[in-house]
Amino acid sequence: MAKRFSEKLLYRIRNEVPLASLLRETLQHPCKKSEGCDRFLCPRCGEFNTAINPKNNLGRCFRCEENFAMPTSISSQLAEKYASIILLI
Ligand SMILES: [Zn+2]
Repeated sequence: MAKRFSEKLLYRIRNEVPLASLLRETLQHPCKKSEGCDRFLCPRCGEFNTAINPKNNLGRCFRCEENFAMPTSISSQLAEKYASIILLI
């Protein structure tokens, strides 16, 4: 399978595009802010027991005990939307 995006581009997106605003504003993924944290709907368990750490740009679901580095790891549906965004950067 051919690579669609270079490692350098994926690295930049992973580190330079804030996950919270990407999920909320661009991908329109269900998100909310509570207790000062950005939270997103976990696609695996369907709960908001999550947080996005702005320091390392990682999302974490505490119930699933899983980290999400970028939207492509969240769901294939989001990955398709995300791919179209990558092309714009
Ligand atoms: Zn979960």
